[in-house]
Amino acid sequence: IFNNVALLPPDALFNIKQRMSQDSRKMKVDLGIGAYRDDSGKPWVLPSVREAEKLIQEDPDYNHEYLNITGLTSLTDPAAMVLLGQDSLALKEGRTVSVQSLSGTGALHMAASFYSTTCKDKLVYLSDPTWANHKSIFEGKGLKTATYPYWNAASKSLDLEGYLNAIKTAPQGSIFVLHACAHNPTGLDPNEEQWATILKAIVEKEHMVLFDSAYQGFASGNLNKDAFAVRLGLELLADVTPVIICQSFAKNVGMYGERAGCFHLVLPHQDEFVKMADVKAAIQSQLALITRSELSTPPAYGAKIVAQVLNKPELTKQWHADMVTMSSRIIKMRHLLRDALVSLKTPGNWDHIVDQTGMFSYTGLSAEMVQRLEKEHAVYMASSGRASIAGLNSGNVEHVAKAINEVVNY
Ligand code: PMP
Repeated sequence: IFNNVALLPPDALFNIKQRMSQDSRKMKVDLGIGAYRDDSGKPWVLPSVREAEKLIQEDPDYNHEYLNITGLTSLTDPAAMVLLGQDSLALKEGRTVSVQSLSGTGALHMAASFYSTTCKDKLVYLSDPTWANHKSIFEGKGLKTATYPYWNAASKSLDLEGYLNAIKTAPQGSIFVLHACAHNPTGLDPNEEQWATILKAIVEKEHMVLFDSAYQGFASGNLNKDAFAVRLGLELLADVTPVIICQSFAKNVGMYGERAGCFHLVLPHQDEFVKMADVKAAIQSQLALITRSELSTPPAYGAKIVAQVLNKPELTKQWHADMVTMSSRIIKMRHLLRDALVSLKTPGNWDHIVDQTGMFSYTGLSAEMVQRLEKEHAVYMASSGRASIAGLNSGNVEHVAKAINEVVNY
């Protein structure tokens, strides 16, 4: 019966990791997978996380019991606050439903499941390009996807005109998946003025928005700055359509493998005859069913750690400093790489490397150049030319710049 099962190609990014592990060259550089590394190229456990783990394990009530189906409220409540902000009207007015998810991917999957049972006919618009998993997640739940223009390859900047045109021509009430900050793979975010234009155009067409928030605080080191688009979107859509926000703690708390995240749904103001509490209870029951049938209960350990970090003021303070440590190291690497390319007189303009934000840079290198980088110089990155800047450090950035210079000149 399974003899004809199709063999799928390996996941492109995890495949890079595997090729690299088989490479015996001494100087090899991993710019593939998006995970933070310190300046010696090692994974970094945040000091706030180390402290939180200690507190959890010293707790006399420490155990490995199941969580509730909808997760730890000591995680989901402060997580909503981190995202929406202390002054959030949606929180004050009780318009939010928050449940724990299996990191950001699980939150997206939950969104896809929820849309597929509540509004299956809506088109889901993804940026072109976007994180590869988006398409599989939404289509995997039977939803139809379309794309909106995003990256102008010639100018290495935002194709705002194409973006707005897609918003205008999409069927009224479609779903737009927006990267809250640190767009993956391009590293290019709209500026504040562009965000306002985009979100107002979305309001005009009464589209529904899903914010994918995988890098809040990781991009700029400032949680509020990185939540600009989410908060403006909630303000502008407050009387229009529901907003879903998929929140990952993989990057900003360094919880990659622990799968800590939340799904938030923010309802618009309701007509007088609709009881907000009833709608919220119904939505929560649907979300609980999704978790119950797929995970039974969400994972506890990472959630407990993040809950400590968000609830203990001294740990929260340390976490804020940890995000600055990560984001400023990445920003420094962007500058070192750009400056090295400029001083090597590498043909082209490399300012986009410093203008982009977050984990990634869409370098503009072609697939052939990327192939040569790997073959000749043991520098590994995605064939799209996306480089994870977190893989750069003071010991390898010069090597990478020389390698890029060589393949561009070749
Ligand atoms: N969305 C985007 C845009 C991402 O880049 C990522 C991580 N690569 C995620 C969601 C989800 O990550 P995780 O499931 O590890 O939280």
